[in-house]
Amino acid sequence: MAEHESLEFGKADFVLLDNVSLEEFMANLKLRFEKGRIYTYIGEVVVSVNPYRAMNIYGRDTIEQYKGRELYERPPHLFAIADAAYKAMKRRNKDTCIVISGESGAGKTEASKYIMQYIAAITNPSQRAEVERVKNMLLKSNCVLEAFGNAKTNRNDNSSRFGKYMDINFDFKGDPIGGHINNYLLEKVGGGVFKCIFQLVKGAPDAQLRSLHIQRDPTAYTYIKVGGQIKVFADFKAVTDAMKVIGFTTEEIQTVYKILATILHLGNLKFGSDGDVTLIENSKLVSVLGDLLSTKDENVEKALLYRTVATGRDVIDKQHTHQEASYGRDALAKAIYERLFCWIVGRINDIIEVKNYDARVHGKNTVIGVLDIYGFEIFQNNSFEQFCINYCNEKLQQLFIQLVLKQEQEEYEREGIPWKHIDYFNNQIIVDLVEQQHKGIFAVLDEACMNVGKVTDEMFLQALNGKLAKHAHYTSRKLSPTDKNLEFDRDFRIRHYAGNVAYSVVGFIDKNKDTLFQDFKRLLYNSSNPVLKAMWPEGKLSITEVTKRPLTAATLFKNSMISLVENLARKEPYYVRCIKPNDVKSPLLFEHERCKHQVEYLGLLENVRVRRAGFANRQLYPRFLQRYKMISEFTWPNHDLPSDKEAVKRLLQGCGFEHDVAYGKTKVFIRTPRTIFSLEEQRAEMV
Ligand code: ADP
Ligand code: MG
Repeated sequence: MAEHESLEFGKADFVLLDNVSLEEFMANLKLRFEKGRIYTYIGEVVVSVNPYRAMNIYGRDTIEQYKGRELYERPPHLFAIADAAYKAMKRRNKDTCIVISGESGAGKTEASKYIMQYIAAITNPSQRAEVERVKNMLLKSNCVLEAFGNAKTNRNDNSSRFGKYMDINFDFKGDPIGGHINNYLLEKVGGGVFKCIFQLVKGAPDAQLRSLHIQRDPTAYTYIKVGGQIKVFADFKAVTDAMKVIGFTTEEIQTVYKILATILHLGNLKFGSDGDVTLIENSKLVSVLGDLLSTKDENVEKALLYRTVATGRDVIDKQHTHQEASYGRDALAKAIYERLFCWIVGRINDIIEVKNYDARVHGKNTVIGVLDIYGFEIFQNNSFEQFCINYCNEKLQQLFIQLVLKQEQEEYEREGIPWKHIDYFNNQIIVDLVEQQHKGIFAVLDEACMNVGKVTDEMFLQALNGKLAKHAHYTSRKLSPTDKNLEFDRDFRIRHYAGNVAYSVVGFIDKNKDTLFQDFKRLLYNSSNPVLKAMWPEGKLSITEVTKRPLTAATLFKNSMISLVENLARKEPYYVRCIKPNDVKSPLLFEHERCKHQVEYLGLLENVRVRRAGFANRQLYPRFLQRYKMISEFTWPNHDLPSDKEAVKRLLQGCGFEHDVAYGKTKVFIRTPRTIFSLEEQRAEMV
């Protein structure tokens, strides 16, 4: 269907395969990858294979080729999907979204950047200054978010450790006027491996490093040693400049770097004991921290070594054990990093939000959302983070099923169009397993965390096994100790739509609770640095006032996923499915089994089947007539047939498209896009 491409590159749309089988699908995917054709359609879904090399297909000239064209007029490309989402928004006043999914390293973030660049390039032809400003901000915000949200993992040197959903708002002319970013679950890797930390240590000017008491040598810092080093991609100056351009004040930028320095110093703090007394061995660091956090040294020391507890009406200072102090230190480092990141996103949102837009004057403000979110993760050792990420992917798969598969089938049934039923796996049962009230895994976890007294991860696992042992997608390792792994009794296993994953329960309880001691929150709130203080409003409460439990990490994540999916469901979705061809970042290697696995769990084959069974286009009879009545003598200027449906039939018979359409109760269904193009052409000749 996509013209301008010869068959030596394989089929540009999987819908055109002679047989829909996994073998043919894989053969086509591989052939195209080897010929340097990294994009292929399934109808309107773009399947992308990470090329792991620079491709000369994103330049200005390519943008021009895709601008305003229909999907099938050009070879498959991200730009075509971006253009389709943009056109739908502009022509039909619809909110649209582009959902980019795939596993870590498959190319999601790169794809989202190209899409943003495309939209930036095709909008604002009249070069309005305000629109240019907004566009610049949107692009610059990416650079900042990457520096603070990306880290090196064993799968991807530059892996986004947060999910990102970005709305771009457009005015009636279709020009960007603002945006909003939602971030999801920044993974709490110890501060060490985030990009910004390296940028600071490697790239900050000497004087600035001195003022932060930081050495140029990354190996001097425990968190970096533990986390592993990375190449620095964008440099310190670029990120600092980007923050300035976006509108961060000098004081804010300085505070950001002070916080990063604080994290590095915290990692080097060592606790010791003298008899019953816990103490800080390298006490010089305490005054460094006091300086960076703009607070008295003794406050820092006290928060690190003691916690205030209320016993009845008395308030006493209880000394940490050595172990508690170390735990508190690491929790603090993670918490301030996470808070910093959320604060940065919040500041960016303040700055890019739509201002001075009056819909009554300017018409409806429409939105394109771009979702770049971590794909399915299966590691050697899977923990709470992987559990959340994989739950998120179950939710997105559910949305995809609902929108693309289920709605499609239901519409055909409603319209009385003959339909071959397609069997697909509905993963709602797994979504329920995780999120259901009272019975789901999150609920069991929250309940365990509510218990007073010491709750262990093992107790949580027992509760899970008790409640879920019979669930078809849950396996307690105790019930089926398939391997001799010593830790088998601390895992539970879930049969995800994408495959089986064993999760170690170690750390679930801690990660779910907000376990940062109130003393730390108070310490940060009492800083004389107003920027820092504003990040920690809850530090205002004294110990006797802290009554309400903060929401757990699981509940927060679940709520944010539910509202994300609700939000996406209100928009017209476009999909980009990313595939990672190999684990060694090679541009030449197409690892068959790895790719096959991804194709399977992305549900791509089902997608092709539905598409082939389906119709590319459908329109209500009156709307169809309104658009095309001028191309037929039977319908122009008016028809005298008993119904619009009859008139549409006459029109299509006259054009010779009878074989390619079906007539529903209220809509006409057109099978191939080529028919639409032809109708459009004839229409263009008449008007
Ligand atoms: P994800 O966000 O899915 O984890 P990324 O988008 O960060 O993956 O991509 C990982 C790496 O793969 C990138 O850093 C880049 O080197 C390479 N890559 C991804 N997409 C492309 C592309 N379209 N062209 C060239 N290289 C790419
Ligand atoms: Mg990414």
